Amino acid sequence: MDIVTFVVEHESQVRMGFFLGLLTIMGLWELRKPRRVSKISKAKRWLNNLSLVFFNSFISRLILPIASTGMAVLAVQNNWGVLNYYEVSPLIATIVFVIVMDLIIYMQHVMVHAVPLFWRFHRVHHADLDYDVTTGARFHTVEIIFSMGIKLVSIALLGPSVFAVILFEVILNAMAMFNHGNVGLPKPLDSFLRYFVVTPDMHRVHHSIEEDETNSNFGFNLTWWDVIFGTYRKEVRKGQIDMTIGLKNIRNPKQTNFILGMLTIPFKGKITEYSINAKKGKSK
Ligand SMILES: [Zn+2]
Repeated sequence: MDIVTFVVEHESQVRMGFFLGLLTIMGLWELRKPRRVSKISKAKRWLNNLSLVFFNSFISRLILPIASTGMAVLAVQNNWGVLNYYEVSPLIATIVFVIVMDLIIYMQHVMVHAVPLFWRFHRVHHADLDYDVTTGARFHTVEIIFSMGIKLVSIALLGPSVFAVILFEVILNAMAMFNHGNVGLPKPLDSFLRYFVVTPDMHRVHHSIEEDETNSNFGFNLTWWDVIFGTYRKEVRKGQIDMTIGLKNIRNPKQTNFILGMLTIPFKGKITEYSINAKKGKSK
């Protein structure tokens, strides 16, 4: 059996395997050589962040009748999407899909910072007072469902193979876990990797308490989108060790690191208060 058939036939095992494997590797790396000292107990954070992840996968399976690979099957059967329509070769189609999806995810990320209603929900991801591998997976249930909707529409419009969809999901998940790690790479390696992919030190800037720093480094996989669209920021003003993680107005651990508190964050604060406006105020 070739690798493509194996991956397609064992989708959930492959995805779960990568998730648990990466969680273990990153978790051990963080314990052995943490980049920053944690504020909140690791056990408490992991329990609450991973409970939210578990809750989300349960709810989205309940609400969404179709998974991303199901949409890819539908697209192939009905000849939907650019890649099916033009009969692009499988290898090229897979590469194009993975890169274009990364751009879509980047734009979605900018949008959830820019639109007040979406920012309310995205704040759950940013409110974590520490930054580690589990931060990369903690999102409000509503944001997970919203992202899934965008993904399904994108798949219908692009028409990738089932394998390409699984590959993209695995890469996105693995990169999110890697670049949210409380770990650091040797400086020359970090600088070199940044020509292509997002590193932990690069994405940590996006989790700074300073709004202008939060509104930079939106990319998850490729660095290019931040560079092209002018949202790239090399470093935080205070440096990686002294910077503060999280949001200015939401700092009570009962709210930020307890699952029921996390789920109610979208309903806190005024509707006019949102992140991306702050960029102007800061650059004065
Ligand atoms: Zn963000």
